Amino acid sequence: AKSAGKGRYTFFAEGMDASLRRRKEIETALRAALETRTGLEVFYQPLYSAQSGAITGAEALVRWRRPQQGFISPTIFVPIAEEAGLIEQLGEWVLEQACRAAVKWPIGTISVNVSAVQLRNAHFAERVTEILKQSGLEPARLEVEITETSFIENAANCQPNLTALRARGVKIALDDFGTGYSSFTHLRNFDVDRIKIDRSFVSGIGSTEDGSPIIQAIIDLAKASGLKVTAEGVETAEQRFFLSQIGCNSLQGYLLSRPMPAKAMDAVFRVGG
Ligand code: C2E
Ligand code: CA
Ligand code: CA
Ligand code: CA
Repeated sequence: AKSAGKGRYTFFAEGMDASLRRRKEIETALRAALETRTGLEVFYQPLYSAQSGAITGAEALVRWRRPQQGFISPTIFVPIAEEAGLIEQLGEWVLEQACRAAVKWPIGTISVNVSAVQLRNAHFAERVTEILKQSGLEPARLEVEITETSFIENAANCQPNLTALRARGVKIALDDFGTGYSSFTHLRNFDVDRIKIDRSFVSGIGSTEDGSPIIQAIIDLAKASGLKVTAEGVETAEQRFFLSQIGCNSLQGYLLSRPMPAKAMDAVFRVGG
């Protein structure tokens, strides 16, 4: 049976192009990693008040380290997990880890990235509620981050879950804001609490392709709509200064802190692991 299986694999492998073969290989390895719970870890990147500099929250970011290959970026394996039907399992695991870890931390909110695939599942809000109960985290201390593009494309499908989550007090953030083609026209229809200005605008501050007029427009619009604003990808003191001056509520980026393991966050707050 083993040789037949191997033969079949070879048959398909020869018919696939290299990138599809690589995707399949990653999919198989990720499925195994999820089953055995090995190599996966959640890192946390603090968010800082633009005014006081205090840590106000943290974003959970999944990490996957493979024995031979080392770290593989979530920008590679998350889309594969979405296509392979693994994102719900992965996403729930991240959510559990994040809620359990954050319940000990003196921060406002723990932000967790949620795929549009998860949001379309009719049971998502229920699962989140169960995870919150199990972890003891107050719903208002959880924020789900959804990307603007995925939300616009699936607005009708995602809405029931978002409405249910908001009714329970969970916060919603629009991630990568400004990268979607219709950001501005859709903003007033979104029932969200926060927008996160994409790093591509932040990195333009002070450069020749200065993104600051766009950032200013985004912040003015968000404020007029009663939304909080976080800037991501803050790497320089100049960016931090500018973003604080024009009214961002919180800042996130390598200048302030890199993502770190839960234990390192425990140490920052001097709480037991
Ligand atoms: P994102 O949600 O936009 O997360 C921000 C990314 O920017 C993270 O990359 C973070 O490590 C990185 N970053 C933070 N500060 C800086 C900075 O100052 N400079 C630069 N150059 N980068 C910075 P990461 O962790 O590799 O994640 C990439 C993307 O993968 C995330 O983008 C998110 O879309 C996705 N992702 C990560 N974890 C999860 C997860 O648990 N679930 C889902 N669905 N997606 C996830
Ligand atoms: Ca995010
Ligand atoms: Ca983002
Ligand atoms: Ca992003």
